[in-house]
Order: sequence, then structure tokens, then C-alpha cells
Amino acid sequence: MKLLDPFSVVLMAALMCAVMSAVLFGARRGFPAELRGLSHWGAALAVQVLSAFCFAFRGTLPDALVLPVANVLFVFGNGLCMTGLQRFYGHAPGWRTLGGACGFALAGMLYYLLVDPDYAARVAWMSMPITLINVTLLFLLVRNGRRKLATLFFGSMIVVNTVLVAVRGVAALTHGEALVDVNQPGLFQSFYLAVTALQPPLLAVGFLMVAYERLRLLLERRSASDPLTGVLNRRGFGEAYAREVARMARMRQQSRTLALLSVDLDYFKKINDRFGHAEGDRVLVSVAQMIGSALRESDALARFGGEEFIVLLPDTDGKRAIAVAQRVQRLLREACAGELPSCTASIGVAVQTDPDESLDALLCRADEALYRAKENGRDRIETWREAA
Ligand code: GH3
Ligand code: MG
Ligand code: MG
Repeated sequence: MKLLDPFSVVLMAALMCAVMSAVLFGARRGFPAELRGLSHWGAALAVQVLSAFCFAFRGTLPDALVLPVANVLFVFGNGLCMTGLQRFYGHAPGWRTLGGACGFALAGMLYYLLVDPDYAARVAWMSMPITLINVTLLFLLVRNGRRKLATLFFGSMIVVNTVLVAVRGVAALTHGEALVDVNQPGLFQSFYLAVTALQPPLLAVGFLMVAYERLRLLLERRSASDPLTGVLNRRGFGEAYAREVARMARMRQQSRTLALLSVDLDYFKKINDRFGHAEGDRVLVSVAQMIGSALRESDALARFGGEEFIVLLPDTDGKRAIAVAQRVQRLLREACAGELPSCTASIGVAVQTDPDESLDALLCRADEALYRAKENGRDRIETWREAA
């Protein structure tokens, strides 16, 4: 049987790593800054390429030089994947762990090359820092990853890599050099070579899949939220409303109701004129947070632009909607006694009982009530009533 030739396999792996490194650095440039860690992965694969080149120099330069450098680079490259995933999930990169893993690899390499030359011991030794890094990757993914196909694929790649490295480490201790030396012909050796060569680019593909999934989520959130305050925009609110009305339609017999509040700040123009537009923006952000704090998890808050906020209150009748509106006004008054410039809000309330009514019609009714609150002196709450 013809078995794999290590040089060709390492060369192919280096080429694949080089391509993936370019892809990851390219993605780093194109992705929003919130998606972090991609440059670590790009660098990780570039370091794997360097490591592969060092291995390729075996025979030309002395092993005592080539092997420690190549192996430490290999551990460093794996470690950059770890720091990259840590950054990706918003954790501080574990530089100390990475430094420790590299130092550990170097010490073992030098000892089992120069003091007590032993190939099997080197393999077993090297499997330890790599397994530690892989377990950290897996831990990060399990704790932070969303239940998606991308996470499953990435996780499987890490598991395969971990098992392979650990099995080879144990095999080195139990079966000695013959089974684990990739320069010897053998089925296990060839299988190990092939899978190991594919692992770094496959891990990078797994990471990229997870990063694209995060990108999709981020863009989806951005397209549904107001950039100034972070609450929903018209599109996001429309979606939240549609979900609620669909739920209401399913529960038709139980006469479900929902309520809408249209909250408009009084004389906001004066705040802008007196304190400047930037301060006005700061007030809008604080008011959005304050209204949000007066709501339940199931309620939805939106700003369509300007200084008007819309609140969707599922399963809420007129009486309870007025109570929420009063809570909003009370919180605003308290905030104005503290850090915000003095401002009040007028609130229009409209209740929907018919699931077939459109959002535009409901908004119109809430706006009519709001208009009445303004007319009747501001800083007050009015509920929509059918004109007499
Ligand atoms: P009223 O009591 O009748 O609501 O008076 P008002 O001044 O609040 O209402 P009006 O609609 O006349 O003016 C709204 C002002 O809100 C105009 C604009 O200066 C301000 N505004 C709208 N959007 C923004 C924004 O994004 N940031 C800031 N700082 N101000 C905004
Ligand atoms: Mg206003
Ligand atoms: Mg307004």
C-alpha cells in the first residue's frame, strides 16, 4: 500500500493555511469592528505556515534548531486561535496561558532533544499544551456559542483535533516511537498526518462560519434598531407588533388586548436650543433607558426618529396602560430632579382589541390621544376615545 509522504502533506497544509490566513485577514478588514478576534486567527494560520516551513527544513538545518522552533511556533499558532476566540466572545486574551504553553513546549523539546533524546516522549510532551488549548477552545464555544449548525461544525472540528492529539500523546507513551513517528510508513501515521494537516484550515473554516453567523445577527439587530438610543426602529417595532398581533389572533376567543403608548417630550426644542443638540441627544438616550426600565420583558420600545417614543404593551388593557404611562412620567420627573435637564412628557394611549386593525390605524389613534394631551396643557396622559 502506498502511504502518505510527510513532506507533500506538510506542504499542502502550509498552502491551505496561507490561503485561510489571507481569507481571515480579508474578513477582518470587511467585518464591523465589534467582531473581534479575526486578526488573531489570521495570524494563527500565518504562524502555522511558518511552522510548516521550519519542519520542511529538517535535514538541511540541525534538528536541535529546527524542531524546537517549529514546535513552539506550532503551539503559538494554536494558542493564537485560543486568544482569537477569547476576543471574539469578549473575554481578555489569555496571553499568560499562551506564554506558559510555549515555554512548556520549548522546555520539553530541548530536554528530550539534547539531554535525553526521546521521540516518543517529545510527542507525548507536545500533546499536552495542544490539548490544553483545544479544551479551552471547546470550553469557550460551549459557554458562549449559539445553538447553530456553525457552532456544531466548529465544535466537532475542535473535538476531532483534541481526540487525535490526545490519542497520539497516549499512544506515544504506551506504544513507543514506531506508532507515532510520522516519518515511518504506517496506516495510523498516514491517517494522523492527513487529519492533522487538514485540522488548522478546517478549524479556521469553523471559526469563520461562527463569525458569519454572528455577523448576520449583528446586521439583523442593526437594521431593526435606532442608532442613537439602541431601542427598536420603525422596522424592528413593526416586526415586534406583527408577532404580537399574530399571537392575539390565535387567542381570539380569550378577547386579548394590547395597548400602545405614544410618548412625546414636551418643548424638547427648548432643551436643544438651551443646552445644544449633543445634550439633547444625551437626554434622548437617558429617556429611552428610563422608559425601558419601566417596562416588562415582553413589552417593546421604539423611537422612529425625533423625540417621540412608542411603547407596545401586550396583554394590557386601558387601565393598566395608563398605570405604565404614569410610571414613565414619574421616572422622568425623578430623573429630571437628578441628572437630566428639566423635561416632561405627554402620553397618548390607544388600546387594540381587534387583531385585524392595522399598525398605522393604531398609531394614528395613539397620536390623536397624544395631540389631545398636548392641547390640554402637556405633561399629561390621554386615552383615545371614539369622537362623540
Ligand atoms: P412639543 O411639546 O409640542 O412636543 O414641543 P417640541 O419642541 O418637543 O416639539 P417639536 O416637534 O416642535 O420639536 C421637536 C424637536 O425635537 C425638534 C428637534 O430639534 C428635536 N429633535 C428631533 N430629533 C432629534 C434628535 O435626534 N436629537 C436631538 N437632539 N433633537 C432632536
Ligand atoms: Mg415634543
Ligand atoms: Mg414630537
